[in-house]
Amino acid sequence: MSANNFLNDTIVAMATAQGLSAIAVIRLSGEDAIAITQKVFQGKNLIEQPSHTVHFGTLRDGTKLIDEVLVTIFKAPNSFTRENSTEISCHGSPVIVKEIIKVLLKHGARLAEPGEFTKRAFLHGRFDLAQAEAVADLINAETDNARQAALNQMRGGFSKEINNLREELIHFASLIELELDFGEEDVEFAERDDLKKLIKRIQTFLLSLIQSFDQGNVIKNGVPTVIAGKPNAGKSTLLNTLLNEEKAIVSDIPGTTRDVIEDEMVLGGINFRFIDTAGIRETQDVIEAMGVERTRDRMKKASLIIYLFDLTQTTLEEILQEEEGLKALGIPYIKVGNKVDKADDALVNILQNHDFLFISAANKTNIGELKERILSTFGIQTVKTGDVMVTNLRHYQNLLQTNAALDRVLESMHNGVTGDFLAMDIRQSLHYLGEITGTISTDDLLDNIFSKFCIGK
Ligand code: GDP
Repeated sequence: MSANNFLNDTIVAMATAQGLSAIAVIRLSGEDAIAITQKVFQGKNLIEQPSHTVHFGTLRDGTKLIDEVLVTIFKAPNSFTRENSTEISCHGSPVIVKEIIKVLLKHGARLAEPGEFTKRAFLHGRFDLAQAEAVADLINAETDNARQAALNQMRGGFSKEINNLREELIHFASLIELELDFGEEDVEFAERDDLKKLIKRIQTFLLSLIQSFDQGNVIKNGVPTVIAGKPNAGKSTLLNTLLNEEKAIVSDIPGTTRDVIEDEMVLGGINFRFIDTAGIRETQDVIEAMGVERTRDRMKKASLIIYLFDLTQTTLEEILQEEEGLKALGIPYIKVGNKVDKADDALVNILQNHDFLFISAANKTNIGELKERILSTFGIQTVKTGDVMVTNLRHYQNLLQTNAALDRVLESMHNGVTGDFLAMDIRQSLHYLGEITGTISTDDLLDNIFSKFCIGK
């Protein structure tokens, strides 16, 4: 890792959201955080105050009064970043925030880069890389399950286990490397059977984490869902029925009505995101063939398809034919017969043997059953507190790579490959494993991770 000279800087950023608010918080971190704040603060001498105390006063730019504020001070190493830090709570006007940041810059602070507070916390050893990434996930959590999964990871998650297994593997790698030092002499310090057992143990653990990713990914990112079917099947009616019910629930809770209503619905703690619904809402003035083409493209992007058949406009043959195309996509789907209010009883009776769910999107019949079917098709159980789950694509990829490298170690041992090659494969798996928690990291890796954070985090 290169010298972290930038850690000598004192950084500043707004920690709360942009826009008008009752209060905004500006955060400073670095050796001079308290001293720089003191230069613009009038009230007490902050430098003399103990850590974790709050002080009322005014902020000034020379003789100009900017605002009345509360300043909280944290002294190293007892802060989020483990550096001296202050948090200035001011009135939440963007003009005030801008003025305060400007005057702090004038007195020696510099603007923080995205994720720099969390990056500093990581570099000072406050937590490992996987935990640092969980901080961002926690802030971005859109459902309670996503919050729980991120919190588990932030509080340690699988980090400790990975580090323990890594230590054991390092031990073996060094024994094998020691054998190499003895060259021609036929010595084996590393008991091959024990190494095999350890690798199997590590792989069992890795596989359980790898398998948790499907569920973890759904919990973090939601399920891209498509409502499909021929024109006039009732797709937009169903979408509105599903969304309106959710909106009604959301707007019952004061302060939760969102300005931009996205097409998404939370069921059982999982976010079902309806993709490409603009197409559904368009009027059906396109020729039918084009409509079908578009529907197909839409369906390919989904992880779940709710496919609507118009029971008043179709025959069993047509339905079976449509289903062939649906099956060919290989994406989980739910077959829904819509307009059951006007459907022919004979057709409904036959379809009952074909695993159909009958609804009326317009009359809201059986919508509860549809929601249950959506959840059961996805088969996700809610997260239990303490469940360790991989939600991060980077971790997932590294786990796969570690596992593949360990496979190679086993194969090498099986083929009686010499110690130097064995050691190389072990070192490779250690590398991938170490990157997860950041025991091994490069500037590029860190930049890549932290640049995705927002400023102020
Ligand atoms: P889309 O083209 O698939 O989006 O279909 P629409 O949602 O625009 O619906 C087409 C027509 O079917 C509209 O006139 C709807 O009112 C009607 N429709 C939708 N759902 C039902 C239903 O459950 N029962 C009946 N009878 N009509 C419905």
